[in-house]
Amino acid sequence: DMETTYHYENEFRKFHFSATIGAAKLFDVKDAGDVMTRISIAYQVARQLEKNEPVFFSEDFYADIMRQKEIIARFQRSLEMQEFVIYYQPKVNAEDKSLCGAEALVRWNTQGRMLFPGEFIPILEKDGSICRLDFYVLERTCELLRECMATGLKMPRISINFSRKHIGNPDLAREIISIIDKHKVPHQFIEIELTESEDFKDYVVMAEMIRQLKEQGISTSIDDFGTGYSSLNMLKMTTIDLLKIDRSFIPREEDYPNKKKDCIMFENIANLAKSLGYKVVVEGVETQNQFDYLKAVGCDIVQGYFFDQPLSVDKLLKRV
Ligand code: C2E
Ligand code: MG
Ligand code: MG
Repeated sequence: DMETTYHYENEFRKFHFSATIGAAKLFDVKDAGDVMTRISIAYQVARQLEKNEPVFFSEDFYADIMRQKEIIARFQRSLEMQEFVIYYQPKVNAEDKSLCGAEALVRWNTQGRMLFPGEFIPILEKDGSICRLDFYVLERTCELLRECMATGLKMPRISINFSRKHIGNPDLAREIISIIDKHKVPHQFIEIELTESEDFKDYVVMAEMIRQLKEQGISTSIDDFGTGYSSLNMLKMTTIDLLKIDRSFIPREEDYPNKKKDCIMFENIANLAKSLGYKVVVEGVETQNQFDYLKAVGCDIVQGYFFDQPLSVDKLLKRV
């Protein structure tokens, strides 16, 4: 029987038992170390997947777990070696397509390959290292802004992604401000993009952090609204400056004329955010049709391949 949960009840109490099971078939495996490795990997995967059934070892799991371990092991040294490279994707005003901001997006240039965030950020998040990377991106960006100011180049505001893993840090706002001040960058040049967490307690913490940043003139935005945990509570409890609606929330082009459900949802969320005093940013805009629609329904700022790719520092400076 492969059930991993079991309930038992007597006259006094109910009992719920559950098990995480990793298993391996051991036909050709003779070495005791190999036996243990296989079972341990199957168990780690079972824990990560939180499935209610046993997970059997496979070579793919092995490769996956080894890759995760390697990323975590190499992270700190890569950070010191400056292997993390920052690209900046412009944001433009919907009204006149003028440049009004840029988002810092990190890449990992390592062993002759360029890794994209999807390949390493989820792993660094599990391990907590993402927090160091976010501060690194903030530092480098402040340095860049400072250099540009010295040359008289008029830079737009730059937004930095801060992982929800920072929520446990009660000094986050203070640490962010001290980095910005260390580089003598005026606060209005920095925006912090935050994503939501599933935990209601965290709203309170986030709301306080957002308040502290705002008090110091640093803008905040909620990223990826419309996906994952994003919720109306967040709009109610905080005073962010911008709401970034995720590209998966943009209605499909064939739905624009007959205003399907997706359009009704999108337009009302955008209106709600605007009525609450938040600017609406839409990310992942790829076509003229999407842009025309977004502009017509009142979105303030757009970002996406239709306007710009994430740019290297050189290209960003040319663009500015
Ligand atoms: P995000 O913050 O929502 O960033 C937007 C992502 O959408 C970027 O992917 C960007 O390259 C991509 N994108 C922009 N325009 C378009 C478009 O028109 N079409 C499509 N299909 N995609 C577009 P990227 O750079 O791969 O970053 C993925 C995610 O990784 C980011 O999502 C962000 O959550 C995370 N991330 C990136 N850099 C950092 C960082 O320094 N710290 C943290 N904590 N997270 C980061
Ligand atoms: Mg972002
Ligand atoms: Mg986003």
